[in-house]
Amino acid sequence: MNFFELPNIFQKINLRTVNKLFGLLRKKELRYVIFTVLIIGVYFSDGFFSLSHKKIEKKATTMNFYNESLKINVENPVLDSVVNDKEREQLLYAIENRIVQFLYEIPDYSLIPSLETYLRYSPRLLDEIPSCVPLEKGNYDLRSQFGYRIHPISGGKKKHFGLDFAAPKNKHVFATASGTVVSISHSEVGYGTHIIIKHRFGFQTLYGHLTKVLVSKGQFVKQHELIGTVGASGASTGNHLHYEVIKNGVKVDPIPSLNLKKNILKKLIN
Ligand SMILES: [Zn+2]
Repeated sequence: MNFFELPNIFQKINLRTVNKLFGLLRKKELRYVIFTVLIIGVYFSDGFFSLSHKKIEKKATTMNFYNESLKINVENPVLDSVVNDKEREQLLYAIENRIVQFLYEIPDYSLIPSLETYLRYSPRLLDEIPSCVPLEKGNYDLRSQFGYRIHPISGGKKKHFGLDFAAPKNKHVFATASGTVVSISHSEVGYGTHIIIKHRFGFQTLYGHLTKVLVSKGQFVKQHELIGTVGASGASTGNHLHYEVIKNGVKVDPIPSLNLKKNILKKLIN
């Protein structure tokens, strides 16, 4: 056998294998097998693709189990208190872990209401989620919503990725959740002078068109901490705060977040 015979052998093998494969494929049964394997593959590949709404919802309902166990624990008159206390502690820890995992996975605010019952066990998590208004009550007027609108400067139809709060110049702007200031930018166009804060669970918030910045890059700020003042820097027709919430890299509608903390705390008191 010399060197030049090699390709011939491969051709023979390839042709034989290919013919065999096509022969098999012609069989009806095999098509069913391939179809079934594909369906099973898709079913078990959760997490491989982005998490579906339903799957996250399912996670919230599995938390009912913890709630039931907690009820049994609290109402149990048989177990001695040390064992009972320890079990309760473990259950609360498990609940918080679940909530944290859930908060990282949710794509926006639409599934948070299903967490309300459980957030009462660790309400301080609300300090780390953008869950309030970035301005003082009575100081603002919500002028522009999230979504498509006619742009006030260009006049064209454009998506607005945040909320516009009209407010007098120099009114205080507050962080809507605790986190780290990751960016402070000054620009003649776009958002003008703006701050970006990075929070836990994949949340970020952006505060645009400011006059003054009262924090520095890398600084840790608490929820409700003063970070800057309202202005009209950048592309702005008047004094207002442009506010954005970003979740896992995607700009989401901040509307459900504005009274989130207040509403959950209200329910906890009741
Ligand atoms: Zn805006």
